[in-house]
Amino acid sequence: MQLANRIRKVTPSITLAIDSKAKAMKASGVDVCSFSAGEPDFDTPEHIRTAAKNALDQGKTRYGPAAGVPELRSAIADRLYKDNQLEYKPEQIVVTNGGKHSLYNLMMVLLNEGDEVIIPVPFWVSYTEIAKVADATPVMVMTEEANGYKITPEQLEAAITPKTKLFVLNSPSNPTGMVYTPEEIKALAEVLLRHEQVYVVSDEIYHKILYDGATHLSIGATSRAMLERTIISSGFAKAYSMTGWRVGYLAGAPEIIKAATTLQGHSTSNVCTFAQYGAIAALTESQDCVETMRLAFAERREVMYQRLNAIPGVTCPKPDGAFYLFPNISQTGLTSMQFCDALLEEFQVALIPGIAFGLDTNVRLSYATDLTTIERGCDRLHKFVEKVL
Ligand code: PLP
Repeated sequence: MQLANRIRKVTPSITLAIDSKAKAMKASGVDVCSFSAGEPDFDTPEHIRTAAKNALDQGKTRYGPAAGVPELRSAIADRLYKDNQLEYKPEQIVVTNGGKHSLYNLMMVLLNEGDEVIIPVPFWVSYTEIAKVADATPVMVMTEEANGYKITPEQLEAAITPKTKLFVLNSPSNPTGMVYTPEEIKALAEVLLRHEQVYVVSDEIYHKILYDGATHLSIGATSRAMLERTIISSGFAKAYSMTGWRVGYLAGAPEIIKAATTLQGHSTSNVCTFAQYGAIAALTESQDCVETMRLAFAERREVMYQRLNAIPGVTCPKPDGAFYLFPNISQTGLTSMQFCDALLEEFQVALIPGIAFGLDTNVRLSYATDLTTIERGCDRLHKFVEKVL
């Protein structure tokens, strides 16, 4: 069968494939320690579940506006202002089926064939693939471990051409966990302001998950001029442990949001109505649940970081955000895929090979899992690396 060119350009998600393999092994009784999923292991907080259950009971089970329930759009606008000093009106928000869908909508309405999208490497797996579906050209910029895998203003400047339409910024980052400092964000904004054809999509889905006093500055909050060219992509999955709910949002210029809403109107229509009521509770009620989960992640991060750096031949920086560590395993002489395949087969530990994020010297571990699994998995990883070296 001759499928459409647009899908033939796209690579299936390695992260989803490995996670499914690990889950299938577990289901068949194998004792797998999985660090593959980018998913908090907590239940969605009770008050959020209750709000969705109440919405179901109150008949919030019908079609709604394609752009989202007005109360949710307002709650998102309020929180973007409160948390990140971003001034968006509710009309500048479209509620989507998760952060991934936000990025898809954005790239589909903003990009034409031949437009270039600058993506720092390592990158979250879907950026490049969505850009390809939108017929655009991903331009990958390799970052340095010494710079915390962050793009520098000089690298950004050098990558911009007259064809550049979009720059993808992700802080805190998946897969590295690195957080751009406010000074670094301001320096990137200065470069972007010199090139008026370039928009920036700031993927801030991990912005509430920060450690050791790190602060998050949204690039859209650096100046009014920058805000006009910034599109925020975010969602509820990570900070509120709502991965399966599929609720996210895009905030940006009214033309972009209108276009994304039109696209949504002919594709998914509104996000599940009662799920949106859960999301309203997440934003408007107490934020203590976010802090409780963050503190648990902080403890796990410390343990996993110490354990990884105690393995000879493995080096791992300590990132300030998200729930990932991204150690360098190049001293083993294995590619990241060989490393992960052998580790899963021989020691039943699931990690994601760095090649999925464009960097073959590293592997990604998620510490969004319990401490016992972290200890057991790290014991096995230690033995595996000792065996390989
Ligand atoms: N952006 C980043 C950097 C992510 O890591 C993820 C999920 O892994 C997403 C966006 C999408 O999240 P969701 O579609 O579950 O809201």
